[in-house]
Order: sequence, then C-alpha cells, then structure tokens
Amino acid sequence: MPDSQRRQAGANEDFRSLRDFGSLKAKSKLDRRQFVAEGIRLSGAIGLAGYLGFLAGSKGQGEELVWQIDPAKCIACGNCATYCVLDESAVKCVHNFGMCGYCLRCTGYFELDAPSLDSGAENQLCPTGAILREPIKNEDPYHEYTIDEPLCVGCGKCVKGCSAFGNGSLQLQVRHDRCKNCNQCAIAVACPSRAFLRVPASDPYLLKQRNLTG
Ligand code: SF4
Ligand code: SF4
Ligand code: SF4
Repeated sequence: MPDSQRRQAGANEDFRSLRDFGSLKAKSKLDRRQFVAEGIRLSGAIGLAGYLGFLAGSKGQGEELVWQIDPAKCIACGNCATYCVLDESAVKCVHNFGMCGYCLRCTGYFELDAPSLDSGAENQLCPTGAILREPIKNEDPYHEYTIDEPLCVGCGKCVKGCSAFGNGSLQLQVRHDRCKNCNQCAIAVACPSRAFLRVPASDPYLLKQRNLTG
C-alpha cells in the first residue's frame, strides 16, 4: 500500500476511535466519571504515542514526516482557515474526548453572551454550524459536542473560546486524509506562533493531555 494511503488509513482509524468512543459512551450510558476516566485512557494512548513518536522522529530516524500542529503553541489566530494551498483547508477542529466533550455550557459552542443554552443559530459561535450538540440520555442538562468535519473550515473560533474559558479540549489538527504534505506548508510559514512541526507519519496527531496542558 502506498505511504499516502497508509497514512490516510491510520489517520481515519485514530479519529474513528475517538468518535466511536463518543457513540459507545452514549449507547452504554456510562456515567460521567466513567466517561472521563475512559476518555483519558484512550486519548492518552493516542496522544502520548503521537508525542513520543514525534520525539523519536525528531532524532532523525529517516522515517517519513508529515506536518502537524502543536496544540500547546497554537493561538487559534485564524490563518489555518485561509493559508492552506487547498480550497478547503486540511486543518480541522477535533474534540479531544479524553479531556472533555461533555458539558452544560461549552464555551467553544456558545457565544459568550448567549441569552439561553439552546442551539438557536444566534447562540452558536461556529460560523458554519460544524459543532453538533446532542443531549446525553438520562444526564440532563449535559450535552455531548462533536465536530462535523466536512463543515469545519478550521477557523479556530471554537478553539479560542474553549481555550480561554474552558479546558482546551477543542483543538486544531492537520487532517492527513486531506493534507498534501507540501514540502513547505504554507500555513506553517504564516503561523505567528510557530506551532507547526514535522512528526512521524506513523503517529501523525498531537492531542493535548491534562498533564501537558495543566
Ligand atoms: S474551527 Fe471554526 S468552523 Fe471548525 S468547528 Fe471550530 S468554529 Fe466551527
Ligand atoms: S502541508 Fe499543504 S495541504 Fe497540508 S496543511 Fe499545509 S498547506 Fe495545507
Ligand atoms: S496559523 Fe498557527 S496559531 Fe494560527 S491557527 Fe494555525 S496553528 Fe494556530
């Protein structure tokens, strides 16, 4: 299988795991404590593997490298939405269920001065309606928040809201089912916080973790 196909398959599998975990949680009606604990384990496995993989890759083992965003450095400036060479940016928001994904008032979803916690368009922060808010059965008033990736333009508004007022579980990542892995990433050049890194293609995602973000 060509490297690009292998990379895409791996990327899809990683994020399918995160999404499936969200569905699994809803189906099995895990309580909040179980959900967070399981989520931390799952995210820890993916995120830490990616981070350690990056450290190994940075030592120059000759492995294929791809572009990725260090979420600890990203300030959600908006350039990821506009500087990608693709018409639709390869950068998307992902929700790190290991940290959250389960809120009453998600500050990445609602306008700060939203008069009510309903999903009326006037209350939503996302310009494209890419964040889905679903009630969790038997756990009123909590909701689960997921990203509809085809709608996400990578603007980072939700990331900014989540980082400023929440716990930073919404973050931007280069999605490798879309990215062309340009020799020089045009967004990396425009990034004001030098958040772009080269990471091993075998572990292409960098998820925040509680112990890394404080
Ligand atoms: S990055 Fe922008 S488009 Fe994507 S989910 Fe967040 S607010 Fe919506
Ligand atoms: S490497 Fe190219 S395709 Fe990928 S995010 Fe950067 S500019 Fe977009
Ligand atoms: S250009 Fe850099 S700081 Fe701006 S949103 Fe993208 S990764 Fe974050």
